[in-house]
Amino acid sequence: EESRPATPGGTPKRKKRIGVMTSGGDAPGMNAAVRAVVRMTIARGCESYAIYEGYTGLVKGGNFIRKMSWEDVRGWLSEGGTLIGTARCKEFRERPGRLAGAKNLILNGIDALIICGGDGSLTGADIFRREWPNLLEELVKTGELQREQIEPYMHLNIAGLVGSIDNDMTGTDATIGCYSSLTRICQAVDYIDATAYSHSRAFVVEVMGRHCGWLALMAGVSTGADFVFLPEKPPASDWEDDMCAIISKHRGMGKRKTIVIVAEGATDADLNPITASYVKDVLSGKLHLDTRITTLGHVQRGGTACAYDRMLATLQGVEAVDAILEATPETPSPVIVVNENKISRKPLMEAVEQTQAGAACIARKDFEGAMKLRDREFEEYHRLFMATTKLDDPLNKAPEDKRLKIAIIHVGAPAGGINAATRAAATYCLSRGHRPFAINNGFPGLVRHDSVRELDWITVDSWAIRGGSEIGTNRTLPSEDMGMVAWYFQKYKFDGLLIIGGFEAYHALTELYEAREAYPAFRIPMTCLPATISNNVPGTEFSIGSDTCLNALVEYCDAIKQSASASRRRVFVVECQGGRSGYVATMAGLSVGALAVYTPEDGINLTTLQSDIEHLRESFANDRGMNRAGKLILRNERASKTYTTQVIADIIREEANGRFESRTAVPGHVQQGGTPSPMDRVRAVRLAIRCIQFMEDNYTPIQEEGQEAGKGCLDRPETAAVIGIKGASVVFTGVHELREKEHTDWEMRRPRRGFWRDLKSIVDTLSGRYGVPGQD
Ligand code: ATP
Repeated sequence: EESRPATPGGTPKRKKRIGVMTSGGDAPGMNAAVRAVVRMTIARGCESYAIYEGYTGLVKGGNFIRKMSWEDVRGWLSEGGTLIGTARCKEFRERPGRLAGAKNLILNGIDALIICGGDGSLTGADIFRREWPNLLEELVKTGELQREQIEPYMHLNIAGLVGSIDNDMTGTDATIGCYSSLTRICQAVDYIDATAYSHSRAFVVEVMGRHCGWLALMAGVSTGADFVFLPEKPPASDWEDDMCAIISKHRGMGKRKTIVIVAEGATDADLNPITASYVKDVLSGKLHLDTRITTLGHVQRGGTACAYDRMLATLQGVEAVDAILEATPETPSPVIVVNENKISRKPLMEAVEQTQAGAACIARKDFEGAMKLRDREFEEYHRLFMATTKLDDPLNKAPEDKRLKIAIIHVGAPAGGINAATRAAATYCLSRGHRPFAINNGFPGLVRHDSVRELDWITVDSWAIRGGSEIGTNRTLPSEDMGMVAWYFQKYKFDGLLIIGGFEAYHALTELYEAREAYPAFRIPMTCLPATISNNVPGTEFSIGSDTCLNALVEYCDAIKQSASASRRRVFVVECQGGRSGYVATMAGLSVGALAVYTPEDGINLTTLQSDIEHLRESFANDRGMNRAGKLILRNERASKTYTTQVIADIIREEANGRFESRTAVPGHVQQGGTPSPMDRVRAVRLAIRCIQFMEDNYTPIQEEGQEAGKGCLDRPETAAVIGIKGASVVFTGVHELREKEHTDWEMRRPRRGFWRDLKSIVDTLSGRYGVPGQD
């Protein structure tokens, strides 16, 4: 038994041992979770154990339970599946299996367990914990263990991490793995899209989801599918006609391809399965479409995790260790969840019970009940999807006197998802009876070329998956010619404005807001939808485009890290974009396991460089040649004027003295990404539509010039707002508030304090930058 003094000179205290396991179906991101748990456990001064092969390893013990060292999990962020194995274990469902599990934990001196799996795995964990004292008693009674052996372990603390590709756990917006799986599905549908277009075919795509239609719905939203079938939202009894009417309408408007997505558990209202082959028969029989079926199957589980899953798994893994260390014998077991952008703990059993209640609702045909138990956004996405595909539903139209002319403009550099946002805004407008207009090529397009076009459904339909900017973008601010901007706004009689873009878009909105006094044309509801890879817009913690960028960067970093495995020990200094915001560098650092991240906010100095080089030396010395992949330092392009990417690489080379080498790597515009990530696409849809709803809610007829001031939007500054995700909610914040010093650092063009800045210390802790206990 290893021991160390609890306090200098005090009595030796046993180190706490925390076990980690993955269970149930594998999901991308599980390795990131295990890495985070192992390293955080060690960083907090405890010992880490991995239980291999899920509950099977717990029941069998022996070599299935192994102590983990810091180095053991090196490189795990970029591996798919789960490296400690997973299984479905019948024995653990029965008491004798759990008895064996308890004995094995005690023999290994393990005090607490972190389990990453689906609702079944977490239920098993909860039963195990509740039975624990009783299991120990039995082990003593039957003589398997002595009382002294069980005494230090009277309480078992557990924490759950939800790892599952289905996103089927109630209480959390995303499970570890679901966005990777969605990415895989969308890639496949994007490929199918091209061939469907070429041959003017229909494709029925079957995706996973026995009780939960999240993957199917989100794939529908992000690929612009024509129709979706979900287990929790069975279609009306005449759905065949309904679907055919929608698809005929789309075809009638000139669409050449048809995509229908079916969740594997989809049924009609009487619980008769709706299979892909039946849907195919309907499409070919009734509409005479050349229809094919694609079943994606296990492809959806595969591959490396996307950037979001790596971050989510890492941050949740850290939270799980903290939850264990803070737990008392009385604390209910927590499950770590995420809501919008906020990671928190919830009582595990509550989440599991609600999840199981959802499945039970479906089984007894209470679909409304099942929908209620899903997360709020699920229902919203379904409504939005239906509104944008079923275009002429009279029930969905705005009242005649509230049909608006809405302008959409892109300002600043392109970012993944801006076309998806524009498409969603436009189609939603059309479904409501509004008229959407695109202002081409930003404000100069308006004032110099009067380049405005009304958008129709078929024009925007194919934009869902495209990168770049379909309507053109420009960074020029309206103040360049405010009078002309106002003149054109008056000419077109716009009732609302949606500006999509980054910091310039926000700046533009602020200028228009400030010009309201002088120009009545701007006394209309106006919103800025933050879209920039830098994620530096005040009023939100998330900009669309930043996820696409992170994925591009993560892929790039994985590739160069790999390239080093064949050569000598190598450090890459990777130059990240992001303007004066270190967001991208930091989040990419979390996702690839960077050794250090250099941001403009913190700058770079000699002391940091020196200690990082020292850390590199130790780290190369310690890895015993087991892992030859390269190491990464991520440097934001504007982190320091003096210590450029090249200078840092040169200093490292000089100091390394031949023990390792260094290279620079500059991904440049690759970071804008090609096809936008599904996360950017689905968030783009949701936020864009919320913006249009904001305009509906705040609409007041335009005042003619000369009318008495103080009416309409002039008196309501909050009608010029940035939409954002803050913590657990989506909010609009008026620019009159945001423009103030305490929110916006105008000189540095970024929010005064990014939420992500605290995450940098996690990157550092997990890379061992602050030192690794037991290795110093
Ligand atoms: P997925 O989302 O992939 O289905 P899951 O965790 O729900 O993941 P299950 O097969 O339901 O997958 O559970 C995994 C394992 O957890 C089971 O094989 C079993 O060992 C254990 N387990 C599940 N339910 C229980 C239970 N009620 N009691 C004890 N153990 C359980």
